[in-house]
This record gives sequence, structure tokens and C-alpha cells, in this order.
Amino acid sequence: MKKINISGPLCPLRENEDMKAHTTFKTGGPAELFAEPAASGEVETLLREARAAGLPVLVTGEGANLLVSDRGVSGLVISTRRLASLFLEKPRERPPVNPRAGQQETVILRAGAGASISRAAAFAADSGLGGLEFLYSMPGSAGGAVWMNARCYGFSVSDVLDSVIFLDAGLALRYADMKEPLFRGGFGYKRSPFQAESSFILEAAFCLRPSLPHEAWKKMRAIEEDRRAKGHFAAPSAGSVFKNNRAFGAPTGEILDGLGFRGRAEGGARVSPLHANIIINEKNASSSDIRRLIEILQTAAAEKTGFRLEPEIIYAGDWTGWGAS
Ligand SMILES: Cc1cc2nc3c(=O)[nH]c(=O)nc-3n(C[C@H](O)[C@H](O)[C@H](O)COP(=O)(O)OP(=O)(O)OC[C@H]3O[C@@H](n4cnc5c(N)ncnc54)[C@H](O)[C@@H]3O)c2cc1C
Repeated sequence: MKKINISGPLCPLRENEDMKAHTTFKTGGPAELFAEPAASGEVETLLREARAAGLPVLVTGEGANLLVSDRGVSGLVISTRRLASLFLEKPRERPPVNPRAGQQETVILRAGAGASISRAAAFAADSGLGGLEFLYSMPGSAGGAVWMNARCYGFSVSDVLDSVIFLDAGLALRYADMKEPLFRGGFGYKRSPFQAESSFILEAAFCLRPSLPHEAWKKMRAIEEDRRAKGHFAAPSAGSVFKNNRAFGAPTGEILDGLGFRGRAEGGARVSPLHANIIINEKNASSSDIRRLIEILQTAAAEKTGFRLEPEIIYAGDWTGWGAS
């Protein structure tokens, strides 16, 4: 195995870490090397050492949008789990850098990349601040939510994002805020500028505004209840499998429903009986079961409607040769 030598801040490396424990699908093979750095200096050292050793790097938050190959991941997986700080900046009277955030007094919440985005919403609400309610009870980290530009209940993360601190592809420490046209223009439907280059998000800052805690919690409880009714917490999944596309004329779930796919099984994987755009790991599914089911849906949708459904889920790890028979 290639050697990686950690000098500088210590961060233990684990070998053959089971990725089932780090994905919400509860599937996937082992990571060759796995690290959970607790500080940005450790992240930088890890990235530098991995680069020197020629090892590919996969960054994970809560693995809520990942389908990791059963063969596993070669190289180094860095989990942000321990970079989970939440910190409120003093209220400041200034025009928010994100014009969509409104003109009220803005309070900035700084979240470590690995902080649960749902916990961030709860922390904000308890502090008398609103803005993140729509993300409550959505699995995932702050870094993952920014990278994906997660969207739900009518809003995207970019609607409330203030700024991001990240290590760019050259490992330079950078700050970018939503005033920068390039940065703002890089966000779209489930699209962020981070998808185009391999950077490591260390911290995200969100624009919040004063709100009564009970009002924020009322919204958040309603959202949690809605997710529960849609079966989001009933079985392991990664939420929606495919993106929606206006050109289709209907949400992807409705299209798949219309094609009779609700409840369709492949190995241990099944299209959720409650929502046709969600695949659940029902009976100890493998990632291959899930991917086969995804491709069955894609092929059928393309044949019957002419639309190519675009997966929202990210295939990670070693999928070489997949589909070649
Ligand atoms: C039950 C359920 C419901 C869901 N509902 C929704 C929903 O309503 N809307 C929605 O948009 N999504 C939804 N999802 C998907 C998922 O919650 C989001 O995509 C979430 O933002 C993923 O965050 P994560 O931390 O788990 O990222 P991961 O899955 O770990 O990673 C996703 C991508 O982001 C990259 N990444 C993660 N962290 C960093 C970082 N710090 N720096 C650089 N790159 C990084 C990874 O390399 C990967 O490419 C749902 C998932 C589940 C399981």
C-alpha cells in the first residue's frame, strides 16, 4: 500500500474503514484509508500528504448523498464529522452580502463543515434566529449542503449563504462571499461552484434574521413531520435519487409513479412505497443493487418519456467496469 506520512498535527488514520457506517444508505465497501480531522491544520496536512503520496481523496460529510461502490474507495476518505463547530457572530448592521437574504438586521452563523445542517437550524432557532428552518431534519453536514446547494421546501442553501472558507485545489486557504459574481453565478438548482473543482470546504457562514424561537420551531416541526410522512426516516436512503427538471413538466417522483415503479425491488433495494423518487435499502442491499435499480428506472423513463433522468446521488469509490458485461 502507498505510504502516507503524517507529520505536523496528529490525525489518526484508519485502514479498511467500512463505509457502511458513513453513508445513510448503509452500503459500500471499505475505504483504503480514513481520517476524521478535528482542525483545519489537520485537513491541510492530510491533503498535502495524500497529494505527495499520489492518493486520491474523497471528502464526506454525513454521506447522505453518496452511493459508495461495494468494492470500496481507494486512497483517502476524509470525514468532516469532527469539524462541527457552531458559532454566532455579533449582530451587525450592514447590508447582507446575499441580496436574497433581505435587508433586516443580519446575524451570521458560522458552521464548521461537519456540523449537522439540521443541528445548525435548531441552534439558530434556540438563539432566536430564523432562516435555516427549511433545512431542519434534512440529513447532511453544512459543507455537504453547500457543496450540493441542497434544496427543499422552496429554498436553496445559496439563498441564505453568506460566505465560505475553503482550501482550493492548490491548497490555498480562501474566503469567498456571495458578493462575488463568479461565486454567486456558480450556484443554481442543486449546483454549486465547488462541484467544478476539488476544494475542501472548511466553514460556511449563513445569514440569519431575528425570529421568535417558537415560530421557527413551529415551521421546523411541520417540516420534520412532512418528511416523516414521506418515509424519510423509515429506512436507509439518500433522499431523492434523481434531480427534478422543469423540462419534464412534472416532478421526477410523479413521472416514476406514473410508470408504476413505486415499490419495485432489485435485490435488497426497493423504490420507496411512499415516494417513487426515493430508493431505500430495505433488506441489506448492496450498492450494486441500488445502482442497478437506478439504471432500470433511467432506462424505462428514457424509453417511455424520452427524458434522461439525471441522478442527484453521487457515485463514489471504485465503479470501474460497472455495466460492462
Ligand atoms: C432522508 C433524506 C432526505 C433528503 N432530503 C433532501 C432534500 O430535501 N434536499 C436535498 O437537497 N437533499 C436531500 N437529501 C440529500 C442530502 O441530505 C444532501 O445532499 C446533503 O446536503 C448531503 O450532505 P452530506 O454532508 O451528507 O454530504 P455527502 O453525501 O457526504 O457528500 C456529498 C458531496 O459533497 C461533497 N462534500 C461534502 N462535504 C464537503 C466539504 N466539506 N468540502 C468539499 N466537498 C464536500 C462530497 O465529496 C460529495 O461529493 C436527503 C437525504 C436523505 C438521506
